[in-house]
Amino acid sequence: MNKSIPVLLVIANLISDFHQFIINSDKLHLYKQSYDSLLYSPSVQSSNQYLDLSTNDLKKYAIPWSMQLFWITSTLIIQTSFPYTPTDQYPSFTAECYAIIEALTLILHFSLHNYLIASDSISCLQALNSNPFNTHLAPLVLYIKSLTFNLLQLHHTIYFLWIPSHTGIHGNEFVDNLAKSTSNLVCPPSSLLPHSDFTPYIKRYILNLWSTHWNNLPENFAIRYRDITPDIPKHTWFTNLDLHRSHIVQFNRLCVGHYLLPSHAFKLGLNDSPLCTLHFDECICDLPHILFTCPALQVKRLALIYSLKSLNTPFNLHSILNTNCSLTIKIIIHFILDAGFII
Ligand SMILES: [Zn+2]
Repeated sequence: MNKSIPVLLVIANLISDFHQFIINSDKLHLYKQSYDSLLYSPSVQSSNQYLDLSTNDLKKYAIPWSMQLFWITSTLIIQTSFPYTPTDQYPSFTAECYAIIEALTLILHFSLHNYLIASDSISCLQALNSNPFNTHLAPLVLYIKSLTFNLLQLHHTIYFLWIPSHTGIHGNEFVDNLAKSTSNLVCPPSSLLPHSDFTPYIKRYILNLWSTHWNNLPENFAIRYRDITPDIPKHTWFTNLDLHRSHIVQFNRLCVGHYLLPSHAFKLGLNDSPLCTLHFDECICDLPHILFTCPALQVKRLALIYSLKSLNTPFNLHSILNTNCSLTIKIIIHFILDAGFII
């Protein structure tokens, strides 16, 4: 085998590279904002009563309160220095949050007092009024609450309005097109992302890395396990199985062949002999021997075959080790332990 950088090391390097793009804090994000701002609920209008309104109608709605109208779009910050994914896959929730932050920061420099911020991100607007003590709330949402609260202290009033996207609302379409056309738009320097935004990309990257490594291994490497698992699955084989930890460990040993049955225990120097101890005929005692051929287990084997049949598990090694039935796994483990072996 060629010596290459271990996959785990590549992954560790990758994750350390992400630090520069992640919103970092020496304390919980919740504690970075004032308590009063956490309790403050911004005024968010997310009903559909404005769906039929044109931009002019909306301006009329804003004018009686001398509001300034902001159209917000996520693509405002389409440019980012994130190196592992195309910018058009940039998480829209975070992008919408940054768009609102940009608008609020801008408002800070204006003298007028009333503002209407129109956003097409319902999830972002709803998050502004969800429980701030929910630990899963994005740090940017807490920051928006804090900015809005600070503007309130400066006698600014901010209203948020949800408008549906891609329904021909002129203002929304206009800013969408504007953002798409400004491919050289400079991203705010502070546009770090919550770590959770990276999780799907990192997961996909790691899976691809392992798959490539697995597919490039020499043909004679791990033949036995490759026969059972030709491709690396997205989830571990026991993800949805109702199994005790000890069963998972034992069955995994059976799958990879690193068990304590005499054949392998002998290789590890833990046993004097690789032979089956249940009879005088000299037979190497591995998993196939115990399951299929050991003459001392004939009676118990008939009961095993009967049980597996009732669970629709064919009585062959490939089917048994590939099973996704937790009862089959428990029965196989019980059969081996009951015969006096350890796994
Ligand atoms: Zn035997």
